[in-house]
Amino acid sequence: MTTQPPVRTTKPRQVRPATEGWSQKKDETGRPLLQFASPKRGKPPVHLADLTADERVAKVKELGMPGFRAKQLEKHYFQHYTSDPALMTDLPAAGRDELVAGMLPPLLTEVKRLETDRGDTIKFLWKLHDGALVESVLMRYPGRITLCVSSQAGCGMNCPFCATGQAGLTRNMSAAEIVEQIVRANRLIADGGLGGKKKDDHSADRVSNIVFMGMGEPLANYARVMQAVRVMVDKDHGLGMSARGITVSTVGLVPAITKLSNEDIPVTFALSLHAPDDVLRDELIPVNSRWKVDEALDAARDYFDKTGRRVSIEYALIKDMNDHAWRADLLAEKLNARGRGWVHVNPIPLNPTPGSIWTASEVPVQNEFVRRLNDAGIPTTLRDTRGKEIDGACGQLVATEDDQVAADATPVA
Ligand code: SF4
Repeated sequence: MTTQPPVRTTKPRQVRPATEGWSQKKDETGRPLLQFASPKRGKPPVHLADLTADERVAKVKELGMPGFRAKQLEKHYFQHYTSDPALMTDLPAAGRDELVAGMLPPLLTEVKRLETDRGDTIKFLWKLHDGALVESVLMRYPGRITLCVSSQAGCGMNCPFCATGQAGLTRNMSAAEIVEQIVRANRLIADGGLGGKKKDDHSADRVSNIVFMGMGEPLANYARVMQAVRVMVDKDHGLGMSARGITVSTVGLVPAITKLSNEDIPVTFALSLHAPDDVLRDELIPVNSRWKVDEALDAARDYFDKTGRRVSIEYALIKDMNDHAWRADLLAEKLNARGRGWVHVNPIPLNPTPGSIWTASEVPVQNEFVRRLNDAGIPTTLRDTRGKEIDGACGQLVATEDDQVAADATPVA
């Protein structure tokens, strides 16, 4: 009689999400607290970038100047990146300071600046008028310059792995506070403050790509984020950037994704999914208790249908938590079930924190995850984080080489 060797069944390890060193605020049902409404705080001063072109003219007139001065102010701010009345010599000296103070009030005070050795990545810490702190990260890549912007001070989405989520939502940022991050970055670039430009790089020296992956959930501050995006793309009265270079990301606020699909500005849309199954995602991304994985993916597919813009799925690879081979297969299955050619996946190894439950997947595991998705016909590119050495982004994602993939996605419809 022969005996069969015992079958070895090694169960993949499953680490459950949990906060480390802080306690997550809970609602009355014991679920992680979600804050959608901005706490009432003193509003930032109204700024030219908060207003439409007509409203700017009206406000200039209110301040006792002829309406055409609005256009001059737009030029100073959006093309010369200045709010300094001393540099605006085309405006009459009498009343100039008052006009500029009324239209271009100071919004961001630089508190700290950190940069990499080569100077091609710079992280800014800004103080808003009420003392709230936000960050932006500026990165030069061959042929483009990307700025990762914040859209809220703090964030109400309470993700257990996120430094920003810990403190909750302080307040929504105004449209102008969002735009000012770009103008200040452009000023720095114009002054030669961003390093790393190669000799053969003839691209324009200003921010070309925006990713809403700094502090905050952009779609929870919908109206102001959209006003900021309008200013970014406006060629006559704003920064004149390409909508394709602007990536709006979300953890999955489904009604707002639907609203975004119906806008007339075809920005690049990214869904920060991080798990394809509700059991894990309910814990990893608390907003999943409102809108499940399938609902978020349906809304993402709908975005593609309405805009023809290929959607990005962001997936932070976290060791033994969400990086299992079966999860790659399940993700591929769910994406393929919604058709072909509408999506690509960007797995991003989490910044390694040795000893923490929040740490990067092993390299072979990362590669296997990517291979399975690609083999299933889903274009997938492992992204390499930038700026680790300066704590690149707010606890979570930094813009990377491959945001260009998103920016270059070819419209199909
Ligand atoms: S990961 Fe994003 S959505 Fe979640 S708490 Fe952090 S900033 Fe907010």
